[in-house]
Amino acid sequence: MMQSHSRQTFKPICSRCGSDNVTSDAIARWNVERQAWEIAALLDNSDCEVCGDETSLVDIKTEEMIGPEALG
Ligand SMILES: [Zn+2]
Repeated sequence: MMQSHSRQTFKPICSRCGSDNVTSDAIARWNVERQAWEIAALLDNSDCEVCGDETSLVDIKTEEMIGPEALG
């Protein structure tokens, strides 16, 4: 079956320049079972790599295509 699906997703962008090259401070907690850091809490402080300064983030809708070519 060559069926493709789209999934509604969100991403945070910089409220000043609209870039998605942003980071957010967070508290991470080690998960022994998964052997990975997990975000325990997001903090209010966010930075934009493009602006090079603190910013506030805005969540926008994106659409992610899920198809055979996307999975390869
Ligand atoms: Zn920015």
